[in-house]
Amino acid sequence: MPADTFVTGLRCMICSECYAPETVDYVCPKHGDEGLLDVQYDYDRIRPLLTPDTLAASTELGQWRYRPLLPIGPHTPVPPLLTGMTPLYAHAGLAEAAGVSQVLLKDDTRQPSGSFKDRASALAVVLAQSKWASAVATASTGNAAAALACMAAAVQFPCVIFVPASAPQAKIAQLLAYGATVFAVNGPYDAAFEMCLEACRRMGWYNRNTAFNPYMTEGKKTAALEICEQTNWQPPDAVLVGVGDGCIIGGLHKGFKDMHTLGLIDRIPRLIGVQSEGSDYLYQAWREDANPLTKPAITADTMADSIAAGLPRDRIKALEAVCKTHGAYVRVEDEAILAAIPELARQTGIFAEPAAAASWAGLQQARAEGLIQPNERACLLITGTGLKDIQAAMSACTAQGRTATVVETGEKGLEQALKRM
Ligand SMILES: *Cc1c(COP(=O)(O)O)cnc(C)c1O
Ligand SMILES: [Zn+2]
Repeated sequence: MPADTFVTGLRCMICSECYAPETVDYVCPKHGDEGLLDVQYDYDRIRPLLTPDTLAASTELGQWRYRPLLPIGPHTPVPPLLTGMTPLYAHAGLAEAAGVSQVLLKDDTRQPSGSFKDRASALAVVLAQSKWASAVATASTGNAAAALACMAAAVQFPCVIFVPASAPQAKIAQLLAYGATVFAVNGPYDAAFEMCLEACRRMGWYNRNTAFNPYMTEGKKTAALEICEQTNWQPPDAVLVGVGDGCIIGGLHKGFKDMHTLGLIDRIPRLIGVQSEGSDYLYQAWREDANPLTKPAITADTMADSIAAGLPRDRIKALEAVCKTHGAYVRVEDEAILAAIPELARQTGIFAEPAAAASWAGLQQARAEGLIQPNERACLLITGTGLKDIQAAMSACTAQGRTATVVETGEKGLEQALKRM
């Protein structure tokens, strides 16, 4: 970690032991790969630096405007691609359709590589450079890898990727085009994850793996920081997001807690995690009040590949995020997730991949379960672009009877076409 940050330590999520940042690389030495750490800051020193006035006057672009709350110093160079500070749109039509007073859409489809993961990957590349590592590596279901390869290309840093061979073609194409070294593992994400851990240990590469590298939560929390600023410090009542490993929802929790600790907001939104019925580990764990350290893995089976996780890697933070904010987990069928893609695109102009459209399906489910009231404001995280998974979008449209009308060329075809109008 670069010097002159406000980080005071790294606290183990299991035993609460706090370590000086230079003394551990990734996880609690007592708890091995499960011993996720939480980054601690000196909030008293940050408070005067981050106020509505200093932020309004800030000339830093994107997510770096919250530098004092990140593990980088005031002058540490960051990748040049504009990352974060994505638009937050209020959408009256969706609010009416869902029966709530406001729906806000946080549009992270516009990130450099097309997903929310850029927030964390940009930070990973900065940290890898500060450690003088020979390469940066990650295992990923696809988007984290695409994001890392993108940010590494932007600063010309070597990048190694382990993805399940089953990842959507668009994501693999991104990796190759960005110039990463790509290993398509013949097996699930969990297998790719273990291989990446071992490869980093042997080669000394900087490891970006979610819920192993403690700083990834810090990159992801910037969405929450932005939501606070973009709502003029009046955050919504509930924030909904598709959940796989649980790093995003844990990051949102961290971001809102940071803002609350700094006195910039006076309450923390309820966090609602949306899972697919075929990958509902956290929903189950939350319902059963299960111990995430002993609950065994499930078999994940969903076409929403970005939220497929048999054993969510960030499950401790993900459960805490929902429990401590009095939020909830909801479960939606894959059909509802698929249907949400064209619904969202048609009503808002935002084209989402399945895991990203899940937040809209989840809002409807949460309303049906009475988890959000008609007078409340909800924010949906739209975490990745629909261009990531064309096959899913095509089958969603076909299922709704939306197909292109084939016509002949020339005058004959024109007549056919115009008759259909
Ligand atoms: C990674 C991802 C998610 C889920 O994030 P987790 O931290 O794994 O819970 C949701 N949507 C998209 C598009 C993603 O890439
Ligand atoms: Zn520990």
